[in-house]
Amino acid sequence: MRLVLLFFTLITGLTSYAQSHKPCGTDVMMKMAIQNEPSLAKNLELFRLYTDSVAQNSELKNNTEIRLIPVVIHVMHTGGSNNISDEQIHDALRIINEDFRKLNADTSDVINEFQNIYADIEVEFKLAKLDPEGNCSKGITRTYTQLTNDAGENVKELVGWNPRMYLNIWVVSNIASGAGGYSYLPGSAPNNDGNAGIVIRASQFGSIGLSSSGNVSSRSMTHEIGHYLGLPHTWGGSNDNNLDENCDIDDGIEDTPNTKGSPQSCNAYQNSCGSLDNVHNFMDYSSCGKMYTEGQKTRMRSALDFGQPWHLAARNNLYTYENLMLTGTHPDYESLDCIANIDFESESPFTCSGQITDWKNLSSNYDLALSYLWTFEGGNPSSSSEENPSVSYENPGIYSVTLSIITTGGENSKIHENAIYVQDQSLVISAPSNKNFYSDPFSSTMDNFDDWYKSENLEGASWQWNSLGSNSNGGSIRIKSDDFLEPGPRKAYTATYDLSYVSAPCYMYYDYAYARKDGESSDQFQVQITDDCGQNWSTRVNKSTDNLTTVDANVYFSFNPIESMWKEQRVSLNPFVGSPKVQAAFIIEGSGGNFLYIDNIRFGVPNLSAEELNIANLNFKVSPNPNNGNASIEFNLLGREKIELILVDIIGNPIFHSELNYKAGQHQMDLNDLKPNLDPGIYYINYKIGSSFGTKQIIVL
Ligand SMILES: [Zn+2]
Repeated sequence: MRLVLLFFTLITGLTSYAQSHKPCGTDVMMKMAIQNEPSLAKNLELFRLYTDSVAQNSELKNNTEIRLIPVVIHVMHTGGSNNISDEQIHDALRIINEDFRKLNADTSDVINEFQNIYADIEVEFKLAKLDPEGNCSKGITRTYTQLTNDAGENVKELVGWNPRMYLNIWVVSNIASGAGGYSYLPGSAPNNDGNAGIVIRASQFGSIGLSSSGNVSSRSMTHEIGHYLGLPHTWGGSNDNNLDENCDIDDGIEDTPNTKGSPQSCNAYQNSCGSLDNVHNFMDYSSCGKMYTEGQKTRMRSALDFGQPWHLAARNNLYTYENLMLTGTHPDYESLDCIANIDFESESPFTCSGQITDWKNLSSNYDLALSYLWTFEGGNPSSSSEENPSVSYENPGIYSVTLSIITTGGENSKIHENAIYVQDQSLVISAPSNKNFYSDPFSSTMDNFDDWYKSENLEGASWQWNSLGSNSNGGSIRIKSDDFLEPGPRKAYTATYDLSYVSAPCYMYYDYAYARKDGESSDQFQVQITDDCGQNWSTRVNKSTDNLTTVDANVYFSFNPIESMWKEQRVSLNPFVGSPKVQAAFIIEGSGGNFLYIDNIRFGVPNLSAEELNIANLNFKVSPNPNNGNASIEFNLLGREKIELILVDIIGNPIFHSELNYKAGQHQMDLNDLKPNLDPGIYYINYKIGSSFGTKQIIVL
């Protein structure tokens, strides 16, 4: 209904709902865009004038030719589950195609009062089969970026196809404004509408995978495309539903009743402004949207006719014959020579015996696969013709995986030699335990308790053992993002620790040193923990360059930390106490950074003071004992400490005394060096760290 002509009144304010799905952010984003770029308001006005004229023009209004829109999905991910499957994408396309053609299964649920204006929009969507350069494509791009956790216009700078040719949809983990999704009305996107398209959370995209079959989750895309094609919310141009003052504004559409906008519920007979509300409308915030009206159809189809020379995302180019051929979406288009670029991954680079591992086809440069053939060394099954198969492994080891795809242009295949590491679950270290990196931890045999695992096969630097920088008596591991030749996370996985006999509170400690190289350094460091062999990971440390650095100044040349440049990090392991198999992953990604060093990882440490902890784990030994005055004294320090050593005879007279700083790690000295030529007898060596102490008896024969 058109009460007042407040067509695209923009009222700010993000609504917040304590629900799993999030509301739409369109009006907030549009207001921000217009503040930054006032000319966008004029574009919107031109669009309004145009749609008003179409609404009066019965010839344009009655045009019912199907409009086909080429679509590209940009998956913005950090690896793992947010790198959503092709299946979830196809499911999302299925839903919007049903909703825009009134082919959805719940059409009869719309109440009788609105059945007569329930429209088939006669608009269809198809994933592009050619990219803007004319390469074969599935209409899906995949970009690794942390911005997916804080997304908005920023992700559009990373990837975007010509908006005059494609409807761009960026699927992200989380939107910075808190919205579930947003789009811009025609003409109003930043960059003179060049940023047109939809940003949407993966959890509100389709009905499977990271999303769910709930009405709001599975149909958020339908709602956002409504905005992309010029529809405001049913109550008017604001983001805030269910307000009294919404009765005074309007959406500018003839047949949508005046409404305040539903709370997120479904009362089909709601009457909020003196007449029956169209609660089933996709552009309401109800939990049961399932229809567009004839008036909304006219608006959306007029948006598809709208396009002017200044308009960088002119919607009227999308469905032209030329564009449908250029994007490979026209039925006449035949792909003949597409050869797949093969790529694939599993959710986790390691697994345990008997556990199911899901493999995901991430290949590109083709639209239709004629067949898939996977080969799984050591796997059950050992081969599969499914696109995304599930496999389990019996025996520990490192196995290869091969994928071959036959497409219209022929066959291509790729092997990942170290595709999956099946861990030996019997190799478990009892916590508390420490890792001082005396020697290279990245053994290739993987048959040692102490072995670490590096999964990535990225070009350029990865985690390496070194003896140049260490806060213990051996070496440490280090990595430098300035030496990365391709982007992506570098991960190092610890051995498996048994926390069965450890009680809360309990921690992991490690020492680290890091320096910026220059102002361009941009690193992100995380520590993640799993207790189910990599099926789920919990992020316990997340630091960017500025809060990771342990030195104030930039270090341009190779960074070798001195003692004062090391810091200690404490990570609570309380959620994992009692678990028999706990592992940590040390993950860094970024560029232009200097070395990050990690040393002295103390895993599953109970809540003791550092002194108590060190004394308890000192493992002070004298051997042989008894001896002839020549014996080896050994101890192991978890962290750097000052240790006082006092050798006394049987009546307590001090014979030798020292007080020295020792690094973490294993230490050895000779009794002969403390005091040569001891007479036969009984002696005691007392060792003290702060106020904690211990004693060892020495017998000289
Ligand atoms: Zn909306």
